[in-house]
Amino acid sequence: MVEQLAHTEINRRRIAEVERCFGASGQPLALPGRVLLGEGVLTKECRKKAQPRVFFLFSDVLVYGSIVLSGRRYRAQRVIPLEEVTLEPLPETRQARHRWLIRTARKSFVVSAASASERQEWMGHIEEGVRRQLRASGRAPSTEHAAPWVPDKATDICMRCTHTRFSALTRRHHCRQCGFVVCGDCSRARVLLPRLAPKPQRVCGLCYRQLAAQRRQGEGEGAVGGEGGPGAGSPSEAGAGCGVSSGDEDDDDSEEDKEGGGEGDWPSRIRFYDSGVSWSSFHS
Ligand SMILES: [Zn+2]
Ligand SMILES: [Zn+2]
Repeated sequence: MVEQLAHTEINRRRIAEVERCFGASGQPLALPGRVLLGEGVLTKECRKKAQPRVFFLFSDVLVYGSIVLSGRRYRAQRVIPLEEVTLEPLPETRQARHRWLIRTARKSFVVSAASASERQEWMGHIEEGVRRQLRASGRAPSTEHAAPWVPDKATDICMRCTHTRFSALTRRHHCRQCGFVVCGDCSRARVLLPRLAPKPQRVCGLCYRQLAAQRRQGEGEGAVGGEGGPGAGSPSEAGAGCGVSSGDEDDDDSEEDKEGGGEGDWPSRIRFYDSGVSWSSFHS
């Protein structure tokens, strides 16, 4: 199907339309051989709350963004190479249904569809795309995954010391290694996590000790110290005692949280293009 759609006029027009909706804020999406396989709105669990996000499944990447005006204007584009993606269905709960985890080495997050069948459709198409990409590249499925961030409102107290209570003055922070919501005192350490960012990242005390131990072990075994293993770089207590840990300066998730959910008139359908046109109702 991908082959059939590649180089077709309809595919070219669909991709041009996605580019147009993101405008200058997005990157060029038309590539020789790339096919737009499907699109639709999913609810993405961001740090502060769940927000509708528009998703586009291409033959080689998954693209999503914030909805400024449904079907017309999107922004805050993210592009995830499919070969880095693994999916994990999440159990149904009364409050949260049809959810699954999209995991990559750099970032993992929870999305939900409007129905079980839509979840099945999305997951099936994404997994098929991942398999196709891995086959083509000869790579093994990715095994390193960023921990998804625990949403802010999931806890009122620090998940490490369990006594600090969060308030307007006592900010929540996220450990970049385990994704837990922790207090400033429990997350003073910064460790270089090369798969996440070039700068040392905030980690909780437990992850700091584990990463430091792994690193020592790596050195003990004669590995090239500080270059390869998890926690490579130097765990350092940078920021400790300097009293400036005033928040998650660099977290893109809070940037994303500022993005609105659009006008509320979400597209009422998801569309997958590879199997003819399969329509399923969205938010019926
Ligand atoms: Zn704490
Ligand atoms: Zn941690």
